[in-house]
Amino acid sequence: MFEFMLEVARQSVQQAAEVCGRIQRQVTPEMVQKKDRSPVTVADFASQAVVSIVLQEAFPDIPMVGEEDTATLTEVGHESLKQRVLEEVNRTLGRDLLEHEILAAIDRCHHDPLTSAHSSSGYWTLDPVDGTKGFLRGEQYAIALAYIESGEVKLGVLGCPNLDLGQSPGVQLWALKNGGAFVTSLQSNDTQPLTTDDIAEPLQARFCESVEAAHSNHSEAAQVAELLGITQPSVRLDSQAKYAVVASGGASIYLRLPTLAGYEEKIWDHAAGAIIVEEAGGQVSDIHGEALNFAVGRTLRRNRGVVATNGLLHQRVISAVQEVLN
Ligand code: AMP
Ligand code: MG
Repeated sequence: MFEFMLEVARQSVQQAAEVCGRIQRQVTPEMVQKKDRSPVTVADFASQAVVSIVLQEAFPDIPMVGEEDTATLTEVGHESLKQRVLEEVNRTLGRDLLEHEILAAIDRCHHDPLTSAHSSSGYWTLDPVDGTKGFLRGEQYAIALAYIESGEVKLGVLGCPNLDLGQSPGVQLWALKNGGAFVTSLQSNDTQPLTTDDIAEPLQARFCESVEAAHSNHSEAAQVAELLGITQPSVRLDSQAKYAVVASGGASIYLRLPTLAGYEEKIWDHAAGAIIVEEAGGQVSDIHGEALNFAVGRTLRRNRGVVATNGLLHQRVISAVQEVLN
């Protein structure tokens, strides 16, 4: 049953990657600020609409939890942005959908699984452009989609249009619970299984972290690395491309150390990446070594930060993180 869902999910992410790539290649991707002052682009809205429409047509009863809504898009002064979104969505899907249909597709992602009458039933979670700041810099970003049921991530898909895992840039990664993790090149359709590396000595390990110092504490991560005896510099990447790098053995560790007291990680920033790393043989937890709890709403409010590793190094990394943070 999850196989068919995975197939449709992958197709929707593929189409979203297409629209995002097209927009990123434009000279200056149009950007506006949301109420929380984070940037949002035509790509964020168009990608969310494309995925939402494709999934809704195949699975009309499954709700969606996504990052964006139309509040910013429908503000006075943002008409041209909205027009671009509508055009890009229809162009990508080869359709003639009306404005209200596309806006409704974006807004249905407002769902809060905690307040839903059917809290045990499943829902999709989507970050249409994870790493918007990387997207705007012309660097890494990801389209991240996962399906969660009974608090467990059942499948995850990451579209990483700029990520090069050794062949050519542009990959899609996916995982099915207990079904392994795989990567397909966006260029050639060549599919390979994903496995984390087998480095058991921190001395040989590499770790990755956010580009944005506001999203993960760089100086504490450097202290953790020093304590572990890691000598290689960190690999800095935006978005869940970090999970992709760990899942494919390009780094052994992903550190996301809290910067802001009270910040709650969003489920769409981690669900897809986490299942891909786990199915590739790795381990994912918060900074205390606790499993990520995807059953408490739109955020990971029971967790603090994230640590993903190849599994072999997990306990040592958690101990080092605890030592530095205490
Ligand atoms: P990254 O590209 O890994 O740095 O992460 C991008 C994501 O960071 C965005 O999707 C935001 O949801 C999230 N984010 C925003 N503010 C914070 C924060 N203070 N701490 C951790 N993550 C954040
Ligand atoms: Mg994000």
